[in-house]
Amino acid sequence: MNIYSELDELYKTVPSIQCQKKCQESCGPINMTELEWQRISKRIGFDPYVDKKDGTCCLLNKENGECKVYNIRPMICRLWGLVEMMKCPHGCVPDKVLNNLLGFEFLFKADEISKERGMPLKKTTYPIVISSIKEPLGFLYKSEIDGKDN
Ligand code: SF4
Ligand code: SF4
Repeated sequence: MNIYSELDELYKTVPSIQCQKKCQESCGPINMTELEWQRISKRIGFDPYVDKKDGTCCLLNKENGECKVYNIRPMICRLWGLVEMMKCPHGCVPDKVLNNLLGFEFLFKADEISKERGMPLKKTTYPIVISSIKEPLGFLYKSEIDGKDN
């Protein structure tokens, strides 16, 4: 058991998708939890950032379209292509398509784990890291729930 075990267990429950490594344009500023951020920083030895020249996530290998931290990539990146509102623009089909509510639930679960295990960040780095995914996405989540109730 380590501080990332629970997160890894959650990642294992996310459906998989055969990626064509074509959507480099999607690897820009993203939201990730503090725990995910800390893990990635530790792995690469510096704080991730967004390339000011082209707005891409610094973890993207622009030569081959691969994510440099693929096995520890944040939840939001794992959901790309799986969730109704984040369908693969290049036709990749997941094992299972998640409706938007299920997508939010994966994000919120990662958020909860992060709050239990992550160290609050001492400084605010690039806005791709957030202390609560629920806050910026809460209104979208609510509109999904409202839509279901109607
Ligand atoms: S959208 Fe996702 S699954 Fe499709 S090519 Fe891009 S990374 Fe791969
Ligand atoms: S962490 Fe990896 S998959 Fe996610 S945006 Fe950055 S390069 Fe893309």
